[in-house]
Amino acid sequence: LTGQLMMHRVLVSTCLLGERVRHNGEHKQSHDSVLQRWLREGRVVPFCPEVAGGLPVPRPAAEIAEAAGGLSVLSGTGRVLDVNGRDVSAFFVAGAQQALEYARLESIQVAVLKEGSPSCGPSFTYDSTFTSRRVPGQGVTAALLRQAGIHVLNEFQLAEANRILTQLHQEGGS
Ligand code: SF4
Repeated sequence: LTGQLMMHRVLVSTCLLGERVRHNGEHKQSHDSVLQRWLREGRVVPFCPEVAGGLPVPRPAAEIAEAAGGLSVLSGTGRVLDVNGRDVSAFFVAGAQQALEYARLESIQVAVLKEGSPSCGPSFTYDSTFTSRRVPGQGVTAALLRQAGIHVLNEFQLAEANRILTQLHQEGGS
């Protein structure tokens, strides 16, 4: 190193930053102080896998069929269906792959992703009946990033995400 420390960046779901990229044209801005500080520090790398994967805003709501989880979609056994029954799996997989490429490019080891989303959800999604019933499991992008060894947390775990960053900093970098 030439005295310049590497700054650890964090991949963050774009909708958490106030951008109106959700399926319904809305955002889910987080005002968490950790996130605000990361923004000031220039650590935040915004990413929306569904838009990156080629879906428009707005778009029909989509859920992982049979609540099979993001890994099933990545392996080709599961599907993501929109509320009209259209198979949109290819968009979700493309978005996840781009998220991983982007994360690798930026040497990202921590991601904070929007809970509940069929792409981003770190610990739950919905049961594919479009009736707001939650099921444990991860979205397609969350699953792919985790498989690659990236720490994936939700917007309610920013303190924990910050602890992980601090640990990485102590191991070298900032
Ligand atoms: Fe937000 Fe992720 Fe949905 Fe994009 S795909 S709107 S970033 S939850």
